[in-house]
Amino acid sequence: MGVPPETAASAGRLAEVPCAACGGLETAPLFSCRDPDGFVPEPFHLVSCVRCGLIFVNPRPDAQGLSRFYYREYYQKPPGFLSGLVAACMRVFQDYRAGKILGRKKPGRILDVGCGEGSFLAGCAAHGWEPWGVETSSAGAALARGKGLKVFDKPLDECGLPAAYFDVITLWQSIEHVMDPAGTLRETRRILKDDGLLFLAFPNSDSLEFKAFGPRWFHLDPPRHLYHFSPRTMGGLLRSCGFQALDADHFYWDYNIFGCYQSLLNLFSTEMNFLYRALKGVRMPLSPGLWAWNVFLIMATAPIFLPLSVFGALTSACIGRSGCIGFYSAKAGPGLSSPHG
Ligand SMILES: [Zn+2]
Repeated sequence: MGVPPETAASAGRLAEVPCAACGGLETAPLFSCRDPDGFVPEPFHLVSCVRCGLIFVNPRPDAQGLSRFYYREYYQKPPGFLSGLVAACMRVFQDYRAGKILGRKKPGRILDVGCGEGSFLAGCAAHGWEPWGVETSSAGAALARGKGLKVFDKPLDECGLPAAYFDVITLWQSIEHVMDPAGTLRETRRILKDDGLLFLAFPNSDSLEFKAFGPRWFHLDPPRHLYHFSPRTMGGLLRSCGFQALDADHFYWDYNIFGCYQSLLNLFSTEMNFLYRALKGVRMPLSPGLWAWNVFLIMATAPIFLPLSVFGALTSACIGRSGCIGFYSAKAGPGLSSPHG
């Protein structure tokens, strides 16, 4: 199932870790789920911190073991006609995302942590911003540099960035990937200007989707998604790292309609996230019969599942329980001005 030759058929050494938000050691098991890319056959286990409620993968691979779950196909474009379709959608989405952030500040210096192949930053540059990126996947960083972007391919705290340097720092669906989210947020605070804006987008463990789909939820993605934050657990983590949460945005149509749709398909598909992986061009060496079944499933259910997903995403957003949410934050502390400008 899509196993690249350079990866082993084992997650390697797994280690138990304390809660990254409160340091608590006592956890309650939630459920087990497999890596949707099929790198290893063993399931990973999601637990919930008894003290603060943060949900995370435990035990988990170490940093070296984890790096083997990222590979170039994770960032590659799909083949054939899908390539143009996905590229067109991504351009629309990146403009949509840029509009969410850049409208809140005058053009300045922006850092995207976990910038992937750099589409969002390229969009920011087109709006007059000075774009910087951090991407620990060397494959992703190479693709971003190919767009003319300034990108570091090491962890944020090893980049040696100057203090109070950035007007805006964004983490699009990346805080759930980092091994030490508190350390990342503290370093983010150091390099953000006093009137700067921090933006985090992440899958929401308090969402209707998480409750409804459980182990079949599109956004689980173990072990790449190490953490599953809710507004409450993220708010607590931000406060402990010197930030104040300003507001949460549940209206993210690019993530939430597709997340709902793919999760619905996952209930019946033989392959987790089949459509998403096909659109990304991930190799899936399935038998012709399995390919046919999964493609048939998409086509046969689309008239029901697509409107249902739009309805689900809209309803979730209206009641503040979306699958993915955006969090706007500012530095906390006396004498710090508002980041809105
Ligand atoms: Zn905790």
